[in-house]
Amino acid sequence: MKITKIELTHHAIDLDPPFPASWDPVPRRRFVVDIVRVATDEGLVGIGSGDPMPGLAGNEHLFIGHDPRDLSRHARIIDNLSFFYGRIWPLDLALWDLFGKITGQPVWRLLGGSSGRILCYASSGTLRDPGAMAEQAAAFAERGYRHMKIRFHEEHWRKDVAKIEAVRTAIGDRMELMVDCNQGWRMPWDASPSWTLKDALAVAKALEPLGVFWLEEPLHRSDVQGMKALRDATPIRVAAGELARDLESMRTFIRAGCVDVLQTDVVCGGGISGLADVFREARAAGIAFTPHTWGNGIGLLGNAHLVAGLGPMLPLEFPYDPPEWTTARRDHGLARTIEVDGQACMNLDETPGLGIELDEDKLAATRIG
Ligand SMILES: [Mg+2]
Repeated sequence: MKITKIELTHHAIDLDPPFPASWDPVPRRRFVVDIVRVATDEGLVGIGSGDPMPGLAGNEHLFIGHDPRDLSRHARIIDNLSFFYGRIWPLDLALWDLFGKITGQPVWRLLGGSSGRILCYASSGTLRDPGAMAEQAAAFAERGYRHMKIRFHEEHWRKDVAKIEAVRTAIGDRMELMVDCNQGWRMPWDASPSWTLKDALAVAKALEPLGVFWLEEPLHRSDVQGMKALRDATPIRVAAGELARDLESMRTFIRAGCVDVLQTDVVCGGGISGLADVFREARAAGIAFTPHTWGNGIGLLGNAHLVAGLGPMLPLEFPYDPPEWTTARRDHGLARTIEVDGQACMNLDETPGLGIELDEDKLAATRIG
């Protein structure tokens, strides 16, 4: 069995009205989905998606002619390419999807999981006034969510804290609340500095009486010492690492003991192959793991299979903040949107691979480049 072809395509939908992501100073008017397909001489095709994968085009020959089942070897080549070029970990997803199709098993079973059912948290993405945020939280609780994540990005963090107060008043103890400070990285056009340790500590102290479950990316991603000091100074869990590029930076976090929750995303760093190792190392060090997954539905499926295969973990991120961010927008290109059930669980079935079913007509109609 051999890999015969790797194909990368790009597909965009217009966002009208635009999506005002709290962590991006520019409202998003377009959503691009980059899809990689790996074909074999036996007619099977594996699918992955995530970042644009610069560096993959022109290097397909490093995989073509090889046995697609040689996942560890392929992960090492992807790691090499991701060091020299961009993040091409979506290719690892496509290879795992293919491996599942070859073996007739869903990826979560290949990883050793006992159930395809995964608890999710509602991950909001927009800024709302305290009253509107409280209404959104109450609506999530009504739909069965037991966890919700709220973004901090007002001009002053005290305005953000006021939202948590309003939400707590509205929902009581019906949901755990996570706070994403989004200080770990910036969009390329955003020159604003990250918080300092003193900023993060003041926020943590203000949030302690409100029962916040974790404080996500309170400091720049490189401030390992600051995160450690913060972790020691507050009972609120510190979460970080969502866009870690390589396994070494994740291991630095584990060794430094600077986080309670590690959040690397299979499509952004390490792939399913690498993150399975990192998850086990984190667990052995007493650190929880649950991946970031703010991308499209295919990335969500990749992270969901990892969680179902290696769990139990903390709840999985489920990007969902209607009306601005809907499952229809997030999952464009899929034949069906991915939804949670009345208990906020995703249910992965026995479909071989990652269970991705593309809407080829829609993809053809939205193809760019
Ligand atoms: Mg985040």
